[in-house]
Amino acid sequence: MKTRFFDAHDHLQDYPSAAGAAEALHLAAEAGVELMLCNGTNPGDWEAVLALAAGNKGVRPCFGLHPWFLKEGAPGWLEALEAMLLRVPSCVGEIGLDGGQNATHPARQEAVFTAQLRLAKKLGRPACLHCVKAWGRMLNIIKEEKPGPFLLHSYGGPAEMLKEFASLGGYFSFSGAIMDAGREKLKRALLAAPADRLLFETEAPEADAPGWRAGPAGVVEVVSAAAAILGRSPEELAALAWANGNKFLGDIAGAAGPEAGGPA
Ligand SMILES: [Zn+2]
Repeated sequence: MKTRFFDAHDHLQDYPSAAGAAEALHLAAEAGVELMLCNGTNPGDWEAVLALAAGNKGVRPCFGLHPWFLKEGAPGWLEALEAMLLRVPSCVGEIGLDGGQNATHPARQEAVFTAQLRLAKKLGRPACLHCVKAWGRMLNIIKEEKPGPFLLHSYGGPAEMLKEFASLGGYFSFSGAIMDAGREKLKRALLAAPADRLLFETEAPEADAPGWRAGPAGVVEVVSAAAAILGRSPEELAALAWANGNKFLGDIAGAAGPEAGGPA
């Protein structure tokens, strides 16, 4: 059977042109990448994410306010987010906490993150999470809020925290950063991640590892690199991640947007 791939995290709306995104999607389809999560980051890109999902069979939309874009959360943003989520089967994301140099205002970040986790729970939607240097706070909020399934994208936390996150409904998506020979902590986390929660991603159009093909097609290389570390075959690992991605998404995996009919 043909190997199918799931790209657990990308931002197709960030391609500089529609032609660029279309080309990346074409290459992804040729490589067998049949399902992907396209993450919005602020109200200004939600319509573009919606359009990409409506126009492309394998693209599932995610809408959220990312911690780097707090300034874009003008009054009414949370109501606008709920309305957006109700328009199509979709996830809440990309949302989260960032204690690194790219973000500030920790209290506001936590308030914005918590409000969106509650919305995900209320609507029964999975959540796609960003976490940088805020692992303890992230765990505390998730324990407190008890959302449904959530995905920690580009997992960079300690291997020791995986078990507890998994018990709370966590999935773990690993990026091309695992190809970086110097990332020992990341490799330990990959080796410790529960097999039934493993996912892989590209964060396209970003691609910052040598040998990592740009675009969602690059998930093929990420899976191969992970397979070498885990001592499994790439085909087996791709099939596992495909099954995990479908489980994470539930009904959303098979759902198409209102305008996205199948082939006539
Ligand atoms: Zn992202």
